[in-house]
Amino acid sequence: MPERLIKGAEIILTMDDAGSELANADILIRDGVIAEIGSDLKTIGETILATGCVVTPGLVNTHHHLYQTLTRAVPGGQDALLFGWLNTLYPIWARFGPQEMFSATQIGLAELALSGCTMTSDHLYLYPNGARLDDTIAAAAEIGLRFHPTRGAMSIGESDGGLPPDGLVEAETAIIKDMIRVVDTFHDPSPGSMIRVGLAPCSPFSVSRDLMRETAHLARDKGVMLHTHLAENDEDIAYSLEKFGCRPGQYAEDLGWVGDDVWHAHCVKLDGAEIDLFARSRTGVAHCPCSNCRLGSGIAPVRAMRDAGVKVGLGVDGSASNDMGNMMLEARQAMLLQRVVQGADAMSAREALYIATRGGAEVLGRGEHCGQIKTGYRADIALWDTNGVDGAGSWDKVALILAGPSKVRDLFVEGVQVVRDYQLSGLDLPWALERQKQLALNLMQ
Ligand SMILES: [Zn+2]
Repeated sequence: MPERLIKGAEIILTMDDAGSELANADILIRDGVIAEIGSDLKTIGETILATGCVVTPGLVNTHHHLYQTLTRAVPGGQDALLFGWLNTLYPIWARFGPQEMFSATQIGLAELALSGCTMTSDHLYLYPNGARLDDTIAAAAEIGLRFHPTRGAMSIGESDGGLPPDGLVEAETAIIKDMIRVVDTFHDPSPGSMIRVGLAPCSPFSVSRDLMRETAHLARDKGVMLHTHLAENDEDIAYSLEKFGCRPGQYAEDLGWVGDDVWHAHCVKLDGAEIDLFARSRTGVAHCPCSNCRLGSGIAPVRAMRDAGVKVGLGVDGSASNDMGNMMLEARQAMLLQRVVQGADAMSAREALYIATRGGAEVLGRGEHCGQIKTGYRADIALWDTNGVDGAGSWDKVALILAGPSKVRDLFVEGVQVVRDYQLSGLDLPWALERQKQLALNLMQ
């Protein structure tokens, strides 16, 4: 792979242990890796001028349902709580197939990339009409983001007392079989991996206790990560107490769902004992502030989690419960929400950016190679041009989420330029948007 040189960055926010911020510095990329950081570096390859830019590690999204990009702002679900929102959308999702999955994922990933995201997980837990995890993996390869798709699942339908319609649930034997298939086919554990598959039953209220336990065994056998929704809102806690006789943290622990290889989405309602459990066991959290606001779920105790040593990353959550997928705005929302509860010094702009980058990489098990601008780390890098109106007048350019752009100028993943001058390199976006519009119109009929 040719070399690339990012030259003359106004400031590089490295996210290293010392919190180093390097003024007027260069980054030399070679073979997908950061080869050198310094001043007056030279290259035999392309030079990208970064004058006036703040350079950060690429943002990392730890929770999403990319397929929902086709069902944003659906009127019946706009003002509903979580369970009512799901009941509005399930019948629409039941009409999806491979084309809808591909197109929705493609556009969702495009939106993430344009907001500076270099690595994202995805949680796909319904497979109607022949849709497969493979459809989303094909879309990710086109955009060029580092992708952590998770093979989700629902097995308890309406007739068994569950929430989803029977047509959207699968038999548990078929779920396990397909989990094995997608891990064996796609999972790559190497340091520069572009695809790592995880296993992810949708939530404790949509699969059986047996499937939760069996999935944990399978994940450990295969060396892949585990992911699900946990403690999202008060209804969720009430369900857990009523059906399982315990709080979600206890339920997770009993079934083997805590550890360095597990991350849970939301965790809005974790209590002190559960926060201690997550810190002790190195269990990760995908904090989804916009979704939590949108669905009225509450404010996750992120300050307490971080103080206790819990690994926290950010998630935009599904496109139908946000309904945007902009990682920079998500970081801003995370910072603002903690301040609502605990005051203006509860979370700095720098800390929120740390959570959005290095924090996310650690949650996804990539902290050794991604999430920092450091020699030897993978070249996942975002360039933010602070010369525009949104950054004008700022006395502290690094405080990007107080005053700065929410769209990235240039983005590199594994050293490859995925966004160049605000445009995606790997996708004809107008064509893809038109295709998605047609699919959405079909679903509305
Ligand atoms: Zn979710």
